Amino acid sequence: MSYEGEMLKKMLMPLKTEVEKELLKTLFRHNGVVKEFSTGEEIVNEIADTFLLNEAQRIIPLERIYRKENRIVKTPLWHRLLFRAADSLANNHLIIKPTIAQKLTSKKEWMLTEKGFDKALELLNIPIEKKDFLPIKSYEVEKEKKRLTEKSAPDNYDPIGTKKKTIITKESNIRFRGFRHAIIESYDYRCCVCGLKIKSPNLLTWEVEAAHIVSHTKNGKDDIWNGLALCHLHHWAFDVGWFSFTDDYKILISSQSKKLPNDFGKIGELNFFGNSLIENKIILLPENKKLFPHEKSIEWHRQNIFYK
Ligand SMILES: [Zn+2]
Repeated sequence: MSYEGEMLKKMLMPLKTEVEKELLKTLFRHNGVVKEFSTGEEIVNEIADTFLLNEAQRIIPLERIYRKENRIVKTPLWHRLLFRAADSLANNHLIIKPTIAQKLTSKKEWMLTEKGFDKALELLNIPIEKKDFLPIKSYEVEKEKKRLTEKSAPDNYDPIGTKKKTIITKESNIRFRGFRHAIIESYDYRCCVCGLKIKSPNLLTWEVEAAHIVSHTKNGKDDIWNGLALCHLHHWAFDVGWFSFTDDYKILISSQSKKLPNDFGKIGELNFFGNSLIENKIILLPENKKLFPHEKSIEWHRQNIFYK
């Protein structure tokens, strides 16, 4: 047995395969990314806590002799074990190494891949159907989000794409999730109409939805210029035509609202139109102008969906 192997055994350290599983679960809890391991990094202790490691197990050093330079390097045994587990996950394409992730996000972090995300769901007994609405971004989804938010709208932008296939492929799912993350992040997780920003009590999901302006059923494109972040209520109201926008992003309310019976759209004092949907008010928009909804998309909504 190697010196390192003997030390692991002597110190009753967890098995590498167990550390791998815990690492995947930790990545899941941290939205798919954790900082590169180094001394003093919280994540190193967080994973140690899950194994109830004692102080000695956390700090005992492993001495390695660098023959070329004739010096001894001491690394905590626990760090070595973490690195080895992470390395093995990366070799099996379940996570991405910090050096590669850095090229995408400019941050030295370990990142979950789609394969690793699926494995984490399995380990945590979370149904795969929940995946679409979780805030976790895999490497592949982050890449798609980056593609969507960094390109410029073409001169002759058309929000309607070619007829879509109804079969959901792995690629179309990544495209959809990339669209969703690109939209809700650009709008800072707020409804662009009422500003609501809230998560579920378990902090796993955001209330806000990424809405298509030209709907999916009308072959609306999954790109940033055909999207808006809306709360559930305003998403519904937008899709049925209760409101739309002018080209300069001011809210237009359907004239039908004036014909509503007095008690409609009201819950006690709370008035749907009066309190959360204000005529002529400019909606909340992304910081970057390049990410604003395209006038062609809004025009289509005004002409085809808005109930004047
Ligand atoms: Zn809203």
